[in-house]
Amino acid sequence: MTTRADLHTHSKYSDGTLAPAELVRRARAAGVASLVLTDHDTVSGCAEARAEAARLGLRFGCGIEINTREGDMVHILGYGIDPERPALAARLAEFRRRRAERVAGIVARLNAEGVALALEEVRGEAGETLGRPHIADALRRKRLVRTRAEAFARWLTPGRPGYVEPMGPSAAEAIAAIREAGGWACLAHPLTVAAPDWERLVALGLEGLEVHYLNHTGPQVARLGELARRHGLLATGGSDFHGPGSGREDIGGVEIPEADFDRVAERLKLS
Ligand code: MN
Ligand code: MN
Repeated sequence: MTTRADLHTHSKYSDGTLAPAELVRRARAAGVASLVLTDHDTVSGCAEARAEAARLGLRFGCGIEINTREGDMVHILGYGIDPERPALAARLAEFRRRRAERVAGIVARLNAEGVALALEEVRGEAGETLGRPHIADALRRKRLVRTRAEAFARWLTPGRPGYVEPMGPSAAEAIAAIREAGGWACLAHPLTVAAPDWERLVALGLEGLEVHYLNHTGPQVARLGELARRHGLLATGGSDFHGPGSGREDIGGVEIPEADFDRVAERLKLS
């Protein structure tokens, strides 16, 4: 048995392409009954999403995704957080400041490569949190690339001319920020992490693993489920929906077994 939940989604407040209310309507149309918004380094979309979810009869929880500086893809999801905690706002503002600094560095590198691009063009339609997808979107608007994926492959990934190392928090800082806001931390899309140090992450307070994710095969899910059990981690899942035109557009497209969802449901603090 599977449940129609999606615990990993992004709105325009970070690098998604839909407003939070539109995202909720998409989720409902896809048959999602329980939804968590996990924008990068901001919880500003949660109020709008929560209101629309209440109107449409979905259960909703406020979450977060924090990209660390530990390699290219060590991202920490936070669940069950209280978006009103003042300490959280201060932490996230600092993480967003570091992102803006990195984006400025990438634009400078692209300029040095002869790509005419201004920081204002990148800010363009960005909501609150800046990131590489906004650079990709700006390049697309200028018809220098056709898709976000092409921009990443040509310019923005390790070894490419526009790449700058992430400047975000350490995993310890990211997990601490989530716990300080009353939440619990989960490692996102674990197969993108080269060699996770499980003992260390668990010692830092990691409590969950995103076992169910876009394009995880059956054997991979089984292996990750076993890893989660061995380290006492909760199994979560989600689509990493970013909205139309993003390349990650299948909201509700990842099935979470009911047994796994039941174990985390209460701790998601859905309303
Ligand atoms: Mn991520
Ligand atoms: Mn994500």
